Amino acid sequence: MAMKTVVALPGQGIGLEVVDVTCELLMGTGLPLKILTPPQGNPLPEETKTAAREADGVLFGAAGPATSNVVSWLRWEMSAWAGVRPIRFYPGMRSPLADPEGIDYILLRENSEGIYPGREGELADLVKLMPDLADRTGRKVKDYGTDGRFAVKIVTPKGAERIARFAVELARKRKARGKAGKITCVTKSNVMPKTDGLYQEIVERVVREVGGLEFEHFHVDDAARRLVRFPKSMDVVLCMNLYGDILSDLGAETAGGLGLAPSANFGDHWAYFESVHGSAPDIAGKGIANPTATILSAALMLEHMDLSEEAQRLEAAVGRIYRDGKTLTPDQGGTAKTREMAQAVLAAYRG
Ligand code: NAD
Repeated sequence: MAMKTVVALPGQGIGLEVVDVTCELLMGTGLPLKILTPPQGNPLPEETKTAAREADGVLFGAAGPATSNVVSWLRWEMSAWAGVRPIRFYPGMRSPLADPEGIDYILLRENSEGIYPGREGELADLVKLMPDLADRTGRKVKDYGTDGRFAVKIVTPKGAERIARFAVELARKRKARGKAGKITCVTKSNVMPKTDGLYQEIVERVVREVGGLEFEHFHVDDAARRLVRFPKSMDVVLCMNLYGDILSDLGAETAGGLGLAPSANFGDHWAYFESVHGSAPDIAGKGIANPTATILSAALMLEHMDLSEEAQRLEAAVGRIYRDGKTLTPDQGGTAKTREMAQAVLAAYRG
């Protein structure tokens, strides 16, 4: 097996802890991996960018205020526009739902457009530029005065179409493995018919054109309750950027908690992998963060590096740890430390 290079960027807070134990686990698997940990910093050093661009896999931990530039670089400058966030319940996970067995869907987040990238400004500047821009009720921008701020939402046909095609590929692959073959599109097109409406229209057109898949659309408020009430009816849930950010935390919680949700972020020719959670300042430094999200992100990375069998083996090892229930971190009702849990997963992997 050829040697693969992985760049590990921990971010900060619990990112440091979960990436550290996950790298230890990966090295313990005996796979031919060379793990590099180039320096972070703001701006991100050129040597780090080069290493990450050239690596076979990039594993990120979690950003906080001091390292948000790292995730901005990974997501936006490297244009990793498709956020794949599996929501899956493994028996033994501490789901708040009465009957979580069988929750297994992908929340697909459009990573690059919408309102999330945060293009904000002073209201006075907007009033100067487009005073007569009216909202749905006829109120004009100038009616708000000049004391305040604004944010801009951008949706392009190109961005909507490429994420729709990505969703189609994902749903087809899942259907081939016996899943429903359904795309659930999430927008708020009832109140934003131009931006969200465009996204919805394009996604629906693409899904119907390719055929062979079911399509449904829900407004984000309705989608939120459906993800709680009917999570097992979901297959590929395609969200606009901010809605995906919010709903993936909700989905993670239905499976058992934020510490469990991994992600893979794909661009045209590049990908990086990270947990859905942030730097968790409330528990950072205590050694009790749940490493599952990062370990499962590493499994997604192995799959991306053509190590599918090993990826499945790692996922199965995580599943076994939850079934056993003996080496879980406090968020899952256990007393294990982050490293102990990761080492237990490694032992199960070696099994
Ligand atoms: P958070 O995800 O860091 O934490 C939310 C809650 O979940 C906290 O109570 C935390 O203790 C718990 N939690 C998260 N991960 C856990 C784990 N692995 N094990 C056990 N418990 C876990 O969200 P926040 O507190 O809103 O944000 C903290 C910082 O993280 C902010 O600076 C935010 O911008 C950043 N953030 C970064 C990312 C990212 O890097 N992708 C995502 C979300 C938030």
